[in-house]
Amino acid sequence: MLLGIPFDANSSFLRGAAGAPAAIRSAFHSSAGNYWTESGVDLGTKGIFLDGGDLQFSSEAFSSIEQSVNEVLDRGLRPICLGGDHSITFPILQAVGKRVPGVTIIHFDAHPDLYDELDGNRMSHACPFARIMEEGLVNKLIQVGIRTATGPQREQAKKFGVEMIEMWKLPAFAKMKVAGPMYISFDMDVLDPAFAPGISHREPGGMSVREALAHLNAIEGDIVGVDLVEFNPAQDVSNITALVAAKLVKELLGKMIAGSCNAERQARVGN
Ligand code: MN
Ligand code: MN
Repeated sequence: MLLGIPFDANSSFLRGAAGAPAAIRSAFHSSAGNYWTESGVDLGTKGIFLDGGDLQFSSEAFSSIEQSVNEVLDRGLRPICLGGDHSITFPILQAVGKRVPGVTIIHFDAHPDLYDELDGNRMSHACPFARIMEEGLVNKLIQVGIRTATGPQREQAKKFGVEMIEMWKLPAFAKMKVAGPMYISFDMDVLDPAFAPGISHREPGGMSVREALAHLNAIEGDIVGVDLVEFNPAQDVSNITALVAAKLVKELLGKMIAGSCNAERQARVGN
């Protein structure tokens, strides 16, 4: 189930990511393309997936996010959260990690986002994975496409036992083949800014769209949740990044739906 999380108050540099869910939906439903995934799933089929719309923040943002994700899980559905800045991954995992034991996160990003704090903000979009690991919400964190790791972030990775696969080491398809429940956190800036300029922190030397899809497709475990974050429409050029984000959402939906057709891998998470 798609869930828009239009929240960017923990961005350290530029606001704008809150506009992403609407821009992604618009590209997703654009009549310039169609609803078929590369794997042959017709997402235009009625009821094949649900769109829960955008979260309305009724209380404090992080508790609203955790609560909404819990509601998705209560319905036996798997959330695909459209950010928003990357800080939202922490409250999402507070819901998912407490319900599903033994989750592995595959985290696509140019940045490790492991700072203890940034500019005095421990909930910054540069910190979610420090919070997730401190709270022991997941079994394992695998980061892919990193190309900005500082000394202190490398220390944090060591401290938390994070497997950091840096961009220069790719491809790393074999590393994607982890058994058990998988959560995918996809920061759009893992892509080269040539493919996805609509982001707040452009970091050259990144993945092509095809490299990202190939790594996503190599994931074999059951996907229990996804977030796609840091798309900033205010920085986009000719809607290029919106289309890329919509393409990634389509292929992830296709992968999750195809996976759930297997009787052994029913869509249920939790109990
Ligand atoms: Mn990030
Ligand atoms: Mn990033």
